[in-house]
Amino acid sequence: MNDAHRSLRELLGAYALDQLDDHERIAVDAHLAGCPDCRAELDEIAPVAQSLRLVDLDRLGQLAPAPPASLGDAVLARIQIERARRREAPRWALPAAAVVAAIALGAGVGWVAHPDVPDQPVVLLEAVEVAGPDARISASADLVPHTWGVEIKLTASGFEAGAPYRVAVTTVDGNKVPAGEFLGTGAKQMKCNLNSSVLRDQATGFEVTDSAGTLVLTSTF
Ligand SMILES: [Zn+2]
Repeated sequence: MNDAHRSLRELLGAYALDQLDDHERIAVDAHLAGCPDCRAELDEIAPVAQSLRLVDLDRLGQLAPAPPASLGDAVLARIQIERARRREAPRWALPAAAVVAAIALGAGVGWVAHPDVPDQPVVLLEAVEVAGPDARISASADLVPHTWGVEIKLTASGFEAGAPYRVAVTTVDGNKVPAGEFLGTGAKQMKCNLNSSVLRDQATGFEVTDSAGTLVLTSTF
């Protein structure tokens, strides 16, 4: 029963979109009859699936405008956030809505064709704590979990004007991966975007060091 639950739950998105073959559909039907959890999850995603089904895939064909590049990123980022949040949970515990969105992308659904879908790119920011020994430095940071790695949006003042600083992301394996450099702006506030190749679920924090290698700011995610 548990194994069936795991494997069939992954099919719920496709089931809601009517994308399963007969064997899979019968298996899901049978499982749904005995599994209130999966029925509840299906109820949650049914409205999303309903609106996606209104899009006629065949008619869209080659004429369909490509979805914005940011959409795939946003969906995958959302999935990563959910994974990080449920770090203890196994990977099949992805929210079904994310699965539906991923399937829609995979199927090349022209999401722009549906008026109910917002046309603003989704920006996902995760605020993180920052702290340092130097009282002159005041800083805050947000993370953006991209598919290619985590981006740090650092807003700060108090770094020595004109002095170079290095940023490194710390990983679950204890490594420090360079995420870029910036020059201090003194009392003037700076906004700096730093990119690293560490995926969000592998990143545990970041460190800022001065040119002498002294730690001036740390963040633990
Ligand atoms: Zn189930």
